[in-house]
Amino acid sequence: MLTLRLKTKTMSDTIVCPKCQSEFTYEQDNLQVCSQCFYEWDPAEVSTEGKIFDSLGKELQNGDSVIVIKDLPVKGAPKDIKAGTKVKNIRLRPESDHNIDCKIDGFGSMALKSEFVRKA
Ligand SMILES: [Zn+2]
Repeated sequence: MLTLRLKTKTMSDTIVCPKCQSEFTYEQDNLQVCSQCFYEWDPAEVSTEGKIFDSLGKELQNGDSVIVIKDLPVKGAPKDIKAGTKVKNIRLRPESDHNIDCKIDGFGSMALKSEFVRKA
């Protein structure tokens, strides 16, 4: 997975939890276990299936900026997230239906679907 190769040398053998991004994970019975949220996964599986693509089919990475491509209603918020809103420093959550975690000005922490964004 490209994100692993981009990281600094000291972090290269750290396997980060795909669920909460914690670095405190350990191996058990061929599975990787997160000591923070107790999520268990197969590291080999994540490396092939964990990729997330935007609406145009471009691969997204943690830390990317994306642009929302359609108005998105937000539960509990008085307004929609407007198409064209730029979102910085996304966090990918491959195991989730809403597979992008981010913060949006005026809304706070949000989870978006990658199909409704494009890479900025
Ligand atoms: Zn975790």
